[in-house]
Amino acid sequence: METGKVDPSVLSERIDHAAEKQRVALREAARLGRRIGALSAKKEQAEKAAASAGWKYHRLDVIRRFLAGIPGELMKARVSARSDRQKSERQDVTVAEAKRLAARADESEKALMRVCPHPFILGYPGHKGTYSYDYDDRYPGKHACVVCGHAEHESECASGRYETLTERDDRMVFRTSSNHFDELRKEALSGHDPLAPLLDAARVHEPPIKRYLEIEFGSD
Ligand SMILES: [Zn+2]
Repeated sequence: METGKVDPSVLSERIDHAAEKQRVALREAARLGRRIGALSAKKEQAEKAAASAGWKYHRLDVIRRFLAGIPGELMKARVSARSDRQKSERQDVTVAEAKRLAARADESEKALMRVCPHPFILGYPGHKGTYSYDYDDRYPGKHACVVCGHAEHESECASGRYETLTERDDRMVFRTSSNHFDELRKEALSGHDPLAPLLDAARVHEPPIKRYLEIEFGSD
């Protein structure tokens, strides 16, 4: 075979062959493109399903913990802080002894607050204020943990932002009005089971817990 010379018929055959190869490759690329489109739609669907299942899982987990009540170790710390506080309120002791008991009660309460994950919160919502009052009627919402007693105001009126007692998936927030708040909080903190007065209040004033449970268990 001579070098440097190309037979035109061989060349055209090669051109045809290359063109055919290109057509096949383009068809394959188009087919893969369609598959990627279908798969990415499926991926999106799967991601949505995962998000919705995740949300449901968190809510159900909160309810599970709610029904289980306050965890044992946390309850022990709470019982001991309450007992120290009650002892500190005794009248039949010397001034020095009363001082010692009060310091001990403060210490127990601080220790409880340090370990408490604030699972059950009582709160009322804040208000942004109205234009016609020049926003003078605004007030911040308040959250209080009914297990350890820690309480906070919103960092900004009606923003829902709290330094520590933020609403989270693993916390249950019982909402009430600012009128009922102090009384309910006192009742919850002084009783052995802080959830009992909240449940009673929920039955009397508003049924958030019931509704919460119905929403969770009513759907699917
Ligand atoms: Zn707490």
